[in-house]
This record gives sequence, structure tokens and C-alpha cells, in this order.
Amino acid sequence: MYRIRFHGRGGQGIKTAGRILGSAFFAEGFETQDAPLYGAERRGAPIYATVRAARMPIIERGPLRCPDLVVVADETLLVAAAAGVLAGVGAQTVMLVCTAMAADVWKERLRFKGPVLALPVQTGATADARFLGAICAGAAARLVGAISRISLEHALAQELAGLEPSDRHDSVEQALAAWDCMSSHAGLVQERAGTSAEELGAPAWIDLSAEPAPSSEAAILVPATSVQVRTGLWRTMRPVIDEDLCHRCSWICSTFCPDGAILVDAEHRPSIDYDHCKGCLVCVAVCPRHAIRSLPERDAQSGGSPS
Ligand code: SF4
Ligand code: SF4
Repeated sequence: MYRIRFHGRGGQGIKTAGRILGSAFFAEGFETQDAPLYGAERRGAPIYATVRAARMPIIERGPLRCPDLVVVADETLLVAAAAGVLAGVGAQTVMLVCTAMAADVWKERLRFKGPVLALPVQTGATADARFLGAICAGAAARLVGAISRISLEHALAQELAGLEPSDRHDSVEQALAAWDCMSSHAGLVQERAGTSAEELGAPAWIDLSAEPAPSSEAAILVPATSVQVRTGLWRTMRPVIDEDLCHRCSWICSTFCPDGAILVDAEHRPSIDYDHCKGCLVCVAVCPRHAIRSLPERDAQSGGSPS
């Protein structure tokens, strides 16, 4: 069985990557499972998608314990422990990172035991998220070595059918370019036997009484605890207010911000709480004066100017 896990952020096409790869395996006659896993959060939050493929019925379910291939669309997740990119990896795991850095740098930094490959595409804040999913799927298809270019093209046509023709054309082109880019590593990811129930061992059961209700409820004992979660770490695009253009009609941007991340002072001047702004850019869209512009987060951190 092949076990592949794609990691990225909401909006980068990770779910689509899993679907494309799953469909490509299916076109080759494999049994497949593909499933995205994400919570209630949206753009910018870490998510992942898994694909299992085998030439026999797949009885494994749930998250991958030991992935054969981990594809990382956004390198900023590699240093975010909560994203779980390294969960279950071992010497048999191949890691493919979309990065401008050399693969050896990541291998050394992460002390990764298996092979690490770099896919030289723009990532994170500067990436065009429309194409990342297809790019990752194209590269993964080549690495597993069991998928023909024709099956990949078939899967791309099927899974990207809802896109605008020009976006679909560009996505397919970039996916096939990623396929070509990985040609010297074709087949590097090895198919491994399935895991038997005996190998998994007995689960560590925890007895929880369902009643009385207070003992099974979440225990939130004080108000406003969500402020402790610095969701600004998820941001890939940063909104920046141009004070010269701002008309101080601040009920607009501060009201529309879904995270309450735009603060307003006594003179109606808005400011953005970057610890909690997730970069959804709703404020950019609603500002009637076009006084809020967006800037890739990476450029913002290195002192760039808004675009
Ligand atoms: S909506 Fe735009 S113009 Fe109005 S306060 Fe917010 S940033 Fe300023
Ligand atoms: S609306 Fe603007 S300030 Fe609020 S979370 Fe989205 S990008 Fe950040």
C-alpha cells in the first residue's frame, strides 16, 4: 500500500491535491482512499489530506500512522509543531518540500532520517495558491512511480473541471511541469505492506463517564480565553492600513473583520491586531476608500511595501 500525506494551509489546494492523486491512482486500477482533515477554521489554518492506494481492499482507516511520502506545500508549517508534519515519519518516509531552499538544509534542520527533496516553486505568502495543490499532486504522482502521465492528466481533467478554463490550463501545465521536475526521482517512494491489527496493539482505553453532564462538558472557567491563541501565526497575507487614505469610517472594517482583529481608538482610527489577524483580507474587500492593501507576510517581515 502507498500512504501519502499532503500538508498546507487552508486555501492552498491541499484537499484538491489529495483528490487528484487519489483519482490518478484509481485510473491505474488501485483501490484508493483520499480524505482531507481540517477543523472549523478557514484560510491560513494548517490542514492536511491523506491518500491511501493499494491493489487490494483497504481496511485501514483514519490518520496515517506511518506515511511513505509527506508533501509540504508551505514550508512555514515545518517549524509549526501543531501542524504535525513530522507525525509518524521514519527512515522509510520521503519528504517533498515546496521551497526555494536546498533540500539538504531542511534535512539537516529537521534531522530527517529519510530522503528529502525540494520542489522549487513559490511557497507560503508568495505562492499563487490556485496552482499549489495541482503542483503537489503532479510531483507526488511521479515520486510513487505507479502512475502514468496519462492517468495524471485524466485525474487533473476530472478534479479541476470546475475551474475557469484559463486557470485549469495553467494548473494542468504546472502539475505536469512538477511531474517532469521529479523525473530523476520517479519511483523513490516504495509501496509497503499494510499494517495488521496485531502490529497496532491494543488501544489505551480511557474510561469516561458520560453522566452527570457537567463532568463531560468542556471546562471553560474564565471568559475571553480565545485571545490566548495567537492565530496571527496562520497568516500568509498581511492587511496594511494606509493612514493617508483612511477616512476613519471605522465601523466598516472593524465590524466586518470576522475575528475582531481591527481595533478602533477614541478618534475612530483603526489599527490591526497582528497577533490575531488571520489574513482573510475581508477588510481589504470592504474598505470603501481602498485604504487597506495586502502584502505577502514574508515580504512584510522583511520590510517590503504593500502590493
Ligand atoms: S473601512 Fe477603510 S477607510 Fe474606513 S476606517 Fe477602515 S480602513 Fe479606514
Ligand atoms: S478582516 Fe482584515 S484584520 Fe480581520 S482577520 Fe481578516 S485580514 Fe485580518
